[in-house]
Amino acid sequence: MVVGESGLGKSTLINSLFLTDLYSGEYPGPSNRIKKTVQVEQSKVLMKEGGVQLLLSIVDTPGFGDAVDNSNCWQPVIDHIDSKFEDYLNAESRVNRRQMPDSRVHCCLYFIAPSGHGLKPLDIEFMKRLHEKVNIIPLIAKADTLTPEECQQFKKQIMREILEHKIKIYEFPETDDEEENKIVKTIKDRLPLAVVGSNTIIEANGKKVRGRQYPWGVAEVENGDHCDFTLLRNMLIRTHMQDLKDVTNNVHYENYRSRKLAAVTCNGIDNNKAKGQLTKVDTVEGMSPLAQMEEERREHVTKMKKMEMEMEQVFEMKVKEKVQKLKDSEGELQRRHEQMKKNLEAQHKELEERRRQFEEERSTWETQQRILEQQKMYVMTLEKNKKKGKIF
Ligand code: GDP
Repeated sequence: MVVGESGLGKSTLINSLFLTDLYSGEYPGPSNRIKKTVQVEQSKVLMKEGGVQLLLSIVDTPGFGDAVDNSNCWQPVIDHIDSKFEDYLNAESRVNRRQMPDSRVHCCLYFIAPSGHGLKPLDIEFMKRLHEKVNIIPLIAKADTLTPEECQQFKKQIMREILEHKIKIYEFPETDDEEENKIVKTIKDRLPLAVVGSNTIIEANGKKVRGRQYPWGVAEVENGDHCDFTLLRNMLIRTHMQDLKDVTNNVHYENYRSRKLAAVTCNGIDNNKAKGQLTKVDTVEGMSPLAQMEEERREHVTKMKKMEMEMEQVFEMKVKEKVQKLKDSEGELQRRHEQMKKNLEAQHKELEERRRQFEEERSTWETQQRILEQQKMYVMTLEKNKKKGKIF
């Protein structure tokens, strides 16, 4: 998901990131089409990365911050994230959970205007509203408008403010792998990532590159000295894609789910209370408050039992599915084991046969060798005798 004021280069960056032309002259980016509204748009890109096909959903949030009154302008974004969690929750509670499309928002690229003056109050509020729901990666938009020193200072200031305001951005995980840790450290040192987007290919130093041509030079999108675009792209679709998905599932989605379940339980109790009051007024006249409470408690217990049973059923089903999967893979392993055993036996037989043939050849050769030796000896004796005049 890309979030940020309109005109910060979100659509351009999407095109540059996924080497697509999701938006073009005929089909311009949302901020060019829709003004002064917050409307969430979703599109899909199919990418091929190292032979692996990747279907990405891109969510654009055009126009925020355009209006004079920006209160609650984050609501459509939050609603979108929640609706995706809701879809997933519904899919999870279905009996057939084999095919579960996962359209949850795994990452939110938050675009910060390259003002050089730190975060705006709207940025702080927006990120705070989102940080419990999605992995936020802050980006400095249009980094080519800042000199390297300005950019460095700006980055420091933004990180200071993020810390100060306790905004939880996506935390890059530490691992046991030294190489990976190096990458993580590089990314962490360069946060927020400064990006440049461009839809045009130009020639720089004899190479064709994606970049922005200025009278004084070219800002290359994929040049690490010019901006952090390549770092961002690699982490998004290579190094950290799985972790983004894991954190979404284990942290943000779990939070959503427990909030939702808590709401259901509270509602249940509230409903029961409401029912109790109705009963008191309308029907069971004369029922003592204690009896009513007892009645409510019984209803609640029955409801809880029902929920428990349902959960147990789901659990049992999950266990059954797992057991079946394990059985399947056990069968598969057994089959492979048998196959390998057969192959090895065949190889063993073949080697034995070859060894037998070799032994035979060797003994024939040795016999021939012996006969040759004897013949040689015989000829030598003849020669000797000839010389001594014994044989004429
Ligand atoms: P959006 O509203 O955030 O989607 O922004 P657009 O992608 O439509 O870009 C708005 C304008 O900014 C366009 O004229 C782009 O050419 C320009 N732009 C996009 N990315 C960059 C960038 O990295 N640097 C500079 N200087 N301009 C950019």
